[in-house]
Amino acid sequence: MARVSDLYGSMVFNEHTMQERLPSATYKSLLKTIKEGQPLDPDVANVVAHAMKEWAIEKGATHYTHWFQPLSGITSEKHDSFIEPLSDGRAIMAFSGKELIQGEPDASSFPSGGLRATFEARGYTAWDPTSYAFIKDEVLCIPTAFCSYTGEALDKKTPLLRSMHAIEEQANRVLALFGEEPQRVVTTVGAEQEYFLISEKDFASRLDLVMTGRTLFGYAPCKGQELEEHYFGAIRPTVNEYMKELDDELWKLGTPAKTKHNEVAPAQHELAPIFANSNVAIDQNLLTMEKMKLLASHFGLVCLQHEKPFEGINGSGKHNNWSISAGKTNLLDPGSNPMDNLRFLVFLTGVIQAVDDYQELLRMSVASAGNDHRLGANEAPPAIVSIFLGDELGAVVDALVDEHDYTSAERVAMDLGVETLPNFLKDNTDRNRTSPFAFTGNKFEFRMPGSSVNLSDCNTILNTAMAKSLADFADAMEGKSGEEFEAAAIAYIRDTLKAHERIVFNGDGYSDEWAEEAARRGLANHRTTAEALPCFVSPKAIELFERFGVLSETEIRSRYEVKLEKYTKLLNIEVRTMKRMVRRQYLPAINAYASQIAADINAIKAACPAANVEAQQALLQKLLGGVSEIDRELQVLDDAHQTAKALEDAQAKADFYAHEIVPVMERLRAAVDAIEVVVGNEHWPVPSYNEMLFYC
Ligand code: ADP
Ligand code: MG
Repeated sequence: MARVSDLYGSMVFNEHTMQERLPSATYKSLLKTIKEGQPLDPDVANVVAHAMKEWAIEKGATHYTHWFQPLSGITSEKHDSFIEPLSDGRAIMAFSGKELIQGEPDASSFPSGGLRATFEARGYTAWDPTSYAFIKDEVLCIPTAFCSYTGEALDKKTPLLRSMHAIEEQANRVLALFGEEPQRVVTTVGAEQEYFLISEKDFASRLDLVMTGRTLFGYAPCKGQELEEHYFGAIRPTVNEYMKELDDELWKLGTPAKTKHNEVAPAQHELAPIFANSNVAIDQNLLTMEKMKLLASHFGLVCLQHEKPFEGINGSGKHNNWSISAGKTNLLDPGSNPMDNLRFLVFLTGVIQAVDDYQELLRMSVASAGNDHRLGANEAPPAIVSIFLGDELGAVVDALVDEHDYTSAERVAMDLGVETLPNFLKDNTDRNRTSPFAFTGNKFEFRMPGSSVNLSDCNTILNTAMAKSLADFADAMEGKSGEEFEAAAIAYIRDTLKAHERIVFNGDGYSDEWAEEAARRGLANHRTTAEALPCFVSPKAIELFERFGVLSETEIRSRYEVKLEKYTKLLNIEVRTMKRMVRRQYLPAINAYASQIAADINAIKAACPAANVEAQQALLQKLLGGVSEIDRELQVLDDAHQTAKALEDAQAKADFYAHEIVPVMERLRAAVDAIEVVVGNEHWPVPSYNEMLFYC
């Protein structure tokens, strides 16, 4: 087997390959675009395209694709071969700068939330040179942004890149106050990906898993996660082989897969990479999710990335570790001298302000039919956004808020022990797993995202909200320097922390008391996607995104539309699947079993008239009662479903699904599950939780 160091990045047109393959002037010019965000020189594109093609062909590639992220959130690709026929019947392999820079997929079949009606149907993809091209299955994949011809973003990547630009600009204004030269500032992301693996055979036997990615029925297994034996437990051999192949594939693609382990729930696992800049990290996460799904089939497995594949045990999340770096400096890392600490406190305060002011948007960014099952279910944070700072940093913030006047940073250092911040903060291991947004020593961990989400949305919001905090600070401070600046900065921090104190919560986020306390503090608690989405189109949100050039009002409205539609479409599919399974699988199976019991009773009675058949009769009664109840709930669901389908207004429809349909779905499920446990195993038409979660 090849050494990992040879394997790593071998399928990526990375900086090393560029340097090797490109003329020096082209290389330098491209690097300026990648590293400094400078516009791409068009002459460079032709040279790069040629070098890329030659490299890709040597690696066995025959096709190229513009790889992009439409509003569905998943990645899309259409493969074009490099082939260019010659008049003599032969063909050459060609790839031009134009083909590298721009593609024209037919935009009409991607979700656009009404943008299609207003604008041209056609869209184009534009090369994102800041995320390396790579080869996947003999296809050269070029990461791209996807826009309409009138410039509206039709994808997840474009607003993310815009938000990164916004935060860079505002962070540099703040850094200038600290005497720093303008520099590259990027946000960083480390995405921990949870997932389940089950056997292909079980998967294929369950219509609910095939259609919706989660079980819509299923009685709890005899053993769940209560023994706490799966988390970090020994990895079963098949899964281990799978993880090895996954690592190899990801390493070839330059994705720094670092940590793998068994997760809390049976059959649940996690992969965490080493963080990268947000844009690259999200591309890598999408690639990881894709590889996870595809490689599972090599081992007779299926990878489930749904947020809640199984009731009664944990679902899957995707922790979004987030920070901001300027060059090599992590701006959320407390420094080693008072001025660095002051800068840290400015950025920390900025985060606290951003998360408080835009808590509803953050909640909205992770809202989905799947994630509604996780948030607030005592396995993931509640639907209420709050920040965990930990005891020590919390004490620093409290001291700042409660203190009186400060004249200089030195005094802060003395009075608050800011000088000693780094020592205790770096070791600040956070034991509170219930917080949605936790400071973990030198970064924040946003724990609300679900496993299947594209992280672009939440990072776009985080970055933009943070850009606003930094802009507010710079607006207030520009023109001040030296001691005057320090004193004003400290006063600003204190006032801002005071104004946003309510978002800080270090206690148990799962407790009922917290929900009550949060309500008293005026924090939002949007329990369902239907409730969470409207804030996207609030004047406050529109003002924020427009001010920083991240999303126009038209783009926001179209995205809101797409999210609403996705939610109701998914629930519609779930309802249809439930009805189909009940009518065509469960009811026939239960009736057949009941008939069998009835026949048994008659046979026993015929053979032995004095036999006591009370137990059999009781079982028969139970089965028949179950059938009645299932039938009743099915009818209620069917009626409600018809009402939902007739609703025109997208928000009204989403509300109806959330409040009227979901509870009926739960009742129908409960009715079926109650009967599952009394029906003979061989009579039950689908694999049980016991079978699916504890496969060999
Ligand atoms: P835990 O399981 O305790 O939450 P892990 O060690 O599994 O933590 O994951 C932490 C993640 O945070 C990793 O992906 C890591 O690369 C990432 N990370 C570390 N530093 C930063 C940073 N400065 N910015 C963004 N992500 C970071
Ligand atoms: Mg984590």
